[in-house]
Amino acid sequence: MTKPPSSDFDAIVIGAGHNGLVTAAYLAREGLSTLLIEARSEVGGTAASDHFAGARVNICNCDHLTFRTTPVAEELNLSRYGLSYINVEPPQVNLDWSSQTPWELWHDVEQTVESIAHSHPDSVDGYRRFARAAIPVAKLILDASSQPPTRGSLLSSVIRKGGRGVTTMLRMSRMSAADVMREFFTNEAIIGPAMVEGPVVWGLSPETPGTGLGAVAFALRHVAHVGRPVGGSGALPEALKQSFLQSGGLLRTGTKVVGIVCEGNSVRAVQTSDGATVTARIVVSACDPHRTFVKWLKNPPARAQSLVERWTATPSGEGYESKIDAVTTEPSSLLGRAPVASTIIVSPSLAELHRGAQLMQEGRTMPRMALLANSPSVTDSTLAPSGQHVFSLESLYTPYSFTDGWTSKDEPERWLRQFATLAQPNFMDTITDWRVMTPADYETEFHLPKGHATSFAGGPLAAFMGTNPELTRYHTPIKGLYLTGAATFPGAGVWGASGRNTALTVLKEMR
Ligand SMILES: Cc1cc2nc3c(=O)[nH]c(=O)nc-3n(C[C@H](O)[C@H](O)[C@H](O)COP(=O)(O)OP(=O)(O)OC[C@H]3O[C@@H](n4cnc5c(N)ncnc54)[C@H](O)[C@@H]3O)c2cc1C
Repeated sequence: MTKPPSSDFDAIVIGAGHNGLVTAAYLAREGLSTLLIEARSEVGGTAASDHFAGARVNICNCDHLTFRTTPVAEELNLSRYGLSYINVEPPQVNLDWSSQTPWELWHDVEQTVESIAHSHPDSVDGYRRFARAAIPVAKLILDASSQPPTRGSLLSSVIRKGGRGVTTMLRMSRMSAADVMREFFTNEAIIGPAMVEGPVVWGLSPETPGTGLGAVAFALRHVAHVGRPVGGSGALPEALKQSFLQSGGLLRTGTKVVGIVCEGNSVRAVQTSDGATVTARIVVSACDPHRTFVKWLKNPPARAQSLVERWTATPSGEGYESKIDAVTTEPSSLLGRAPVASTIIVSPSLAELHRGAQLMQEGRTMPRMALLANSPSVTDSTLAPSGQHVFSLESLYTPYSFTDGWTSKDEPERWLRQFATLAQPNFMDTITDWRVMTPADYETEFHLPKGHATSFAGGPLAAFMGTNPELTRYHTPIKGLYLTGAATFPGAGVWGASGRNTALTVLKEMR
């Protein structure tokens, strides 16, 4: 793999979120001279950790599940660079605002059923039926995501799984997530938290047709183990960075990409905000497709015209996730129970969630919020100084275009006080300092346009069909230009599969 003498690098990767890091590390490992350009001063994007009030907090909620189903950690030798995981058991405690009767979702189905038998006995049979139907679908999704998708690779996944789950997956993928869950349950204490983790986390109403696979969120937790890197989510991107640098890669942080230059039918160079132009024969954008194809492309060839037109006509999304990080004198506990590290999902009713999606479009939030809370320092003492804890509260359907604006902390404080009604009586007094990250902050600090964290919405069927090849095959009509990241298959989450799939695609097409 020799580079043409006129190129500064074999490959340039734009954006050092965990997906860009994965792609860059695989390319460097194969001997390609690789430059990774990151706008922030630190790597990791929304998978990073941050210092706050003397503690270490996570930008994302920090439950890593899908990443642990990939071979990335092993192939890039990440344990050598400090990555180790703490398993979280139970991975989740679920609760709805109406019944306020929590139940535990364990990795083990029977342990979960035991918890449901205790708290919501009407849903025991339904949960067993749900697990039987959804677990094969979850396994199929994870298997199909573990390699660059082609019709052949996806059919191989189906054959490897003995065809199990295919019919259910196809049927579910056409339904709404709420309808999928209604086939198994009438109790919203079971349905609601699954919706919060599925379509609501994607910014959609659970009643939206085509969101049905969002209902397998519980099943994923029975198939794979939720874990958190020791030292916080950012330990993963830090280990990826070390792996990349050890393979000879070059990282440039604090540098914003402003253009991708084409020459003839090929990509030629990347322009940065400091006025530099760096040449390479391969450019991988690990940023959102809208900016990549609409804002950054300079002199695109005629063969890319329809791609550019399609993305110009695609409205760019608005962010809807916010997260509070607090430092506390004791871990939070729920409804008089002992403190746990598990994520606590708090769900409004289906009707409230559906209405919440409409309110979000009007720039408003829900009266009773959809929340994901945890105290990761319960199991990881490295996160906060002795005698202190970290509390994390993710809030959903919090629109970028919030009518009251995000400069005041009144609205986030309302979420904190709302969670306090479920926690130990002195919860608010345990907080020594807190901050909030809203979509406005994700825009200014993480370079996410309108604070929107992109996500591939097509599902395995779109990947099978090869719909929008830049999202499902990672390549573009411009020779040498590739796309990776959460916008591409298999989508959002700290997963790394799209980063790895893209690297494998680049290497295959080079050969
Ligand atoms: C509040 C919140 C909670 C979440 N919780 C979880 C969770 O618990 N579990 C989970 O699995 N997932 C979670 N996620 C989702 C997950 O964090 C993301 O899907 C994932 O990290 C996206 O990774 P990425 O590498 O594709 O993109 P990003 O992390 O967005 O990385 C893109 C990178 O590109 C850089 N960049 C942007 N513009 C430029 C430019 N012009 N020039 C150079 N660089 C640029 C950015 O600075 C960034 O570093 C959460 C997300 C949010 C917002």
